[in-house]
Amino acid sequence: MLAMKSHLKKGDTVAVISGKEKCKTGKVLQLLTKKNGVIVEGLNMVKRHMKAKNNEPGGIVEKEAYIHISNVLLYCTKCSKPVRSRLATLENGDKQRNCVKCGSSLENK
Ligand SMILES: [Zn+2]
Repeated sequence: MLAMKSHLKKGDTVAVISGKEKCKTGKVLQLLTKKNGVIVEGLNMVKRHMKAKNNEPGGIVEKEAYIHISNVLLYCTKCSKPVRSRLATLENGDKQRNCVKCGSSLENK
């Protein structure tokens, strides 16, 4: 499976645009490039059975499952909605992702 090109980074705030978590936002905790997925804090929670180990009791824990990157977009706090990003090159050569609607930076600073 080919990895889809994604502009998402760890720490980005994203909004879910389809699926059961639609319209929710959260912070990207992890990128799963091979699966084209992202783990978003507090979203798409699933119950997992954990085995007991190292004196820790086993049991059922809730954990984030990945969301396919085609189901999330960067979230613009100025527009208050999910937006597409445009890559801009700054004077110092750094790349920055800007909101296509309002032009503000979507970088997590
Ligand atoms: Zn915007």
